[in-house]
Order: sequence, then structure tokens, then C-alpha cells
Amino acid sequence: MNLILLGAPGAGKGTQAEVICKALNIPTISTGNMLREAVKNGTKSGLEAKSFMDSGKLVPDEVVIGILKDRIAEDDCKNGFILDGFPRTVPQAEALDNMGVTIDKVIEIYVPDEKIKQRLSGRRVCERCGNSYHVDFKPTKVEGVCDACGGKTVIRKDDEPETVNNRLAVYHEQTAPLKGYYEKQGKLVTVEGQEEVSETSKLTLAAIEA
Ligand code: AMP
Repeated sequence: MNLILLGAPGAGKGTQAEVICKALNIPTISTGNMLREAVKNGTKSGLEAKSFMDSGKLVPDEVVIGILKDRIAEDDCKNGFILDGFPRTVPQAEALDNMGVTIDKVIEIYVPDEKIKQRLSGRRVCERCGNSYHVDFKPTKVEGVCDACGGKTVIRKDDEPETVNNRLAVYHEQTAPLKGYYEKQGKLVTVEGQEEVSETSKLTLAAIEA
């Protein structure tokens, strides 16, 4: 099954992707994580992407489409995959269609902007393995230390308040039109993000099975 998770930055797509990944045993592909890795490794696409990411803008379509195309061609994607953070523009969605990829469902995780701002201000990520935490909702066992790998947890540069406002504006302008795009294809299902992550997960899994 090929799935897309749609939603504003901080709506909880990554967390839901982990849940689906375990339930269906298919890999999650997060273009954000792949780009951060590319930046860390100083690759060509990383160098191209860095300034866009730091200011909360979208990385140019051709860079992201190239990365995604190579990734879904890998062996572990044969039985399906979950796209987290891709597509983010209509041209990216069209590129996916043109690659001959059939998307089964698009799940939108809906959370109002005010709540998103509150969530992102408390988000911490492990600088080593990329695991995500929240100071109130999903704290690490030891403050500042990743439960999974022992790495240091930090505030993502693009979670600074001003950048969050930019990312939300970019989402509404460039990514939200994808709702109409996939609604027309009869693939869009909206799940309202709940206070309890486990409640959202139940709704997400039910939406996939429906
Ligand atoms: P994320 O972790 O998904 O919020 O992504 C972090 C940043 O990576 C975004 O703010 C963009 O700058 C960039 N990015 C990730 N995925 C995409 C995409 N599909 N298209 C353009 N830029 C992207």
C-alpha cells in the first residue's frame, strides 16, 4: 500500500508515520529527514537545500523530486511505503503521478495553527538519530538525552518561532492546495489530530482500513 501523510509542519505526521510503519511493515520516507541527513553529510543536494530549510522555505521541486525518485526505487519500497512530507507542492504531486506511482490513500492530519505553534515550540530532536520528542507531551527519560541512542536532543533550527510562522504560511500557500488535488482523485481522508497521540493513531489506522 502506498500512502501519503499530509498536514502542516508539527501536525504529527512523523509520529503517525511510525505507527503505520509498524502496523503495515512498510517503510516511512521522510524527505525532511533525508534532506537534514544530506545537509549533515555536505552532499550536493544538502548544500542546495540548507538555506531554504533554515529559513522555513521549501527546497526547490527538482532537488526533492530527484531524492524521492531514487529512494522509492529501493528494494524495501516494493510492498509499499509511507510518504511523510512529500509531496508539498502540486508539481511534486504531478511528478509522482508521472513516475507511474499509484497512491492508495492520502491521510491529512489536521491540527489548527495555534496548536501547532504550541507544539513546535516544545519539540526537541536528537541530533544523532533524528528521533523526535516534546518537552510536555513526549519527554525524554533523561532531560536532553535521546531515549533511543543517547544522543543530545536539541531545538531544530527551523522550530524557532519566526521560522515556524514562515513554514505555516508556506504550508497554507503551497501545500494545502494538494487537498483539492487528492480530493478530486477520491483519495483524501482527513483525521483530526487529538490531544492524545494514541487517539490520533486509532483514527489514522481506521482511516487506512476504511
Ligand atoms: P520536515 O521535517 O518535513 O518539516 O521538513 C523540513 C524542511 O525540509 C522543510 O521546511 C523544507 O525546507 C524541506 N522539505 C522537506 N520536504 C520537502 C518537500 N517535499 N519539498 C520541499 N521542501 C521540503
